[in-house]
Amino acid sequence: MVAVMLLINGRIHTLDVGGTVVDALVVRDGRIAFAGRGGGVNAAPAEEIIDLGGRTVLPGLVDAHGHLMHLARARLSFDARGGSEDEVARRVGDWAATRPRGEWIGGRNWDQNRWPGRRFPDKASLDRAAPDHPVALVRIDGHATWANSAALAAGGIDRGTPDPPGGLITRDGQGEPTGLLIDTAQRLLQRVEPRPSDAQFDRAVRECVGDCLAVGLTGIHEMGAELYALAAYRRLIERGQFPFRNYVAVAGRSASTWDHYRQRGPEAAGEGRLVVGALKLLADGALGSRGAALHEPYCDDPGNTGLVLVPGEEVERLTLEAGALGFQVCVHAIGDRANALVLDAFERALVRAPRHDHRHRVEHAQVLADRDIPRFHRLGVLPSMQATHCTSDMAWAAERLGPERLRGAYAWRSLLATGVVIAGGSDFPVESPNPFHGIHAAVTRRPREGDAPGWQPEQRMTRQEAVRSFTSWNAYASRQEADLGTLEPGKRADLVVLSDDVFTCPDERIPDIRPVLTLVGGQVALRTAV
Ligand SMILES: [Zn+2]
Repeated sequence: MVAVMLLINGRIHTLDVGGTVVDALVVRDGRIAFAGRGGGVNAAPAEEIIDLGGRTVLPGLVDAHGHLMHLARARLSFDARGGSEDEVARRVGDWAATRPRGEWIGGRNWDQNRWPGRRFPDKASLDRAAPDHPVALVRIDGHATWANSAALAAGGIDRGTPDPPGGLITRDGQGEPTGLLIDTAQRLLQRVEPRPSDAQFDRAVRECVGDCLAVGLTGIHEMGAELYALAAYRRLIERGQFPFRNYVAVAGRSASTWDHYRQRGPEAAGEGRLVVGALKLLADGALGSRGAALHEPYCDDPGNTGLVLVPGEEVERLTLEAGALGFQVCVHAIGDRANALVLDAFERALVRAPRHDHRHRVEHAQVLADRDIPRFHRLGVLPSMQATHCTSDMAWAAERLGPERLRGAYAWRSLLATGVVIAGGSDFPVESPNPFHGIHAAVTRRPREGDAPGWQPEQRMTRQEAVRSFTSWNAYASRQEADLGTLEPGKRADLVVLSDDVFTCPDERIPDIRPVLTLVGGQVALRTAV
């Protein structure tokens, strides 16, 4: 490792409070030693001098809501993206033909909203394509699984199986499961699905970290990791194979994982490369599978108000328990009813055990009742949002929600106006981990392709806000602002040198911005041009 590095001739956005732009940085022993004008810097001690050629430099970009464990698992499984149910089933058949009979075929990424007719799939198509392999394919949002008869049998699911709390086994007119499992019902299959080996999983994690670095990330907040994934990250850190930062919220739905951390408390390893500092809970499902919990029924499914996955009392109890141990609490809430439930639970917990600066988070905060918008700031709760969900959902969100509720949907400007900051992320693998897709969505509220006008343009972010939502605001949202988020002396030297200027390039070029040099803790993690 180079102990002292000098970077000169850049447009270096420190993102300090005043928004200072400098042209030189000195990196010493993994941290920023100097940020200022290059004219006065003594270059003598530098072992490496990098001329940035006028390029734009940002603090390392961090995705506040990603699923590294799921991305790595997805890499080891079947990709069910495709144009129709039959096409996906046909490819499952081709894949099965190369696998021993009886071997489990797990996969994800199907989305019936992209198929003709937008109908949910069922087991019949998979039974025809791959009758001799258990097949379980998770919807792109993780909230529904499409299974064949062999997988249903392996999970012990038949007409006599009751719907678990917070879940639904979809059935036909005769009560026979159709092969579609919603929300917690998916766990009936998850518990019998075989796990990959350590070596397979470690390799997949390294490849996924490489993919994240390639789009400009230096770290993520992982929303729901389990013990086996944490063990892999520790193994890779020990071998010097984890040039990345992962701030982990442990998966509350994995009882063994939370049991472990309840006894152990928060953890930090590898110079801040792995920090386990939060607990992740799930309050409802997602809008795409109509599992998001709403106050009033779905406009396109009267009678359905979505699913609450955990009672408010349980969120309150776990908030008290985790808070007392020093953990932050991050709760997934998409529908307006789920958001109200989580804010109520946080409020009750904070009345019973007042905590200064807890920084609890609501993950997604996607559909909010007017009265709940100011409560985030009042309670000190942070909304953690994914701008690309807005541009992916805008085609059909109005059908689900109707015009009234749309006003509180993806309401970035309304939230910012109350004084909160928004943690920015992607929810990969639901969306691409590319933070420039997120910045583009945040400042345009338009899809990357086509010429659709900006949707609810009054809710857009400025470029300064969008960039902060992937840098300084995310450092704050993970209680790491003393070490990360800006390029100020004393902080860790995590930075990205960009192919184009994210503050001045035309909107439509933002998604194409690439990192050309990335430092994590002062070490080169990616280098293409400089
Ligand atoms: Zn997520």
